[in-house]
Amino acid sequence: WLGLEGKSVIVTGAASGIGKAVAQEFLNCGANVAVCDLNPQTPEFEINENSGKMIYLHTNVCDAQNVKETVKRVCEEFGTVDVIVNNAGINIPSLLVDDKEEHSKYELNENIYEKVMDVNVKGVYLCSQEASRVMVKKGAGVIINMSSESGLEGSQGQSIYAASKNAVNSFTRSWSKELGPKGVRVVGVAPGILEATGLRTLAYEEALAYTRNITVEKLREGYKSTSTTPLGRSGKLSEVANLVCFLASERAGYIHGVTINVAGGKTRG
Ligand code: NAD
Repeated sequence: WLGLEGKSVIVTGAASGIGKAVAQEFLNCGANVAVCDLNPQTPEFEINENSGKMIYLHTNVCDAQNVKETVKRVCEEFGTVDVIVNNAGINIPSLLVDDKEEHSKYELNENIYEKVMDVNVKGVYLCSQEASRVMVKKGAGVIINMSSESGLEGSQGQSIYAASKNAVNSFTRSWSKELGPKGVRVVGVAPGILEATGLRTLAYEEALAYTRNITVEKLREGYKSTSTTPLGRSGKLSEVANLVCFLASERAGYIHGVTINVAGGKTRG
């Protein structure tokens, strides 16, 4: 009912977590999907006779030449690019100042700054720029930027990640003004606390727990607690994927320049 059959869709960071769920949902809707990820291992998808086609492209979203080649390849395989979902992202928790320990590995430094900004901000601009070249030429297309509730609310121990997602929200607003008149819609999606994904590694949990002065167990309890959100649970990956597919469709044709949160009522957005 979304009319996505035969559409050409790029999903970055689609080897795991939200990106994989988004790619699967587009395939279910009959769209042709380029699954792009740094991870060299091709992920498995459920494919049936109504699914679209899937190609896997080993792509580093921070590498301009690599991104150019990816978009070229998608155009060769699927004829065009109708939708790009800028989903690839990383998160390295840190404190601005660690007053408990000198030379702390959990204090923000240039290395952490560059890594997070490179993937979460530069990656989004490079991929959007290459996809836009195709979209603007034909006067149609949709760019969907994966943000986070941290980008809307700020987050203890995740300031650089939150700043990067705020930059993404700003891209969404600014590009909507630049590209809207050329027929290209730009929207953002800001998930809140979700069921576990690849982003939530043990190293990530240890770092975040340290920055919040709690144990990893306490942090995990927080994710599971029924008081975490007004809906009393964390979100499902499919709930983010459903929204992304709706936003990519003509049914969402007048939604433009905004970031919509999927956070169980925790943030108002
Ligand atoms: P994930 O780690 O499961 O998936 C991210 C994917 O991106 C991985 O497959 C990884 O290999 C890929 N990736 C990383 N760097 C890349 C690069 N340079 N080029 C190409 N691919 C790269 O994470 P996730 O939780 O599914 O997160 C996906 C997106 O959703 C991120 O942008 C994240 O910030 C956002 N998000 C996640 C949550 C959550 O609770 N998990 C909440 C809010 C927002």
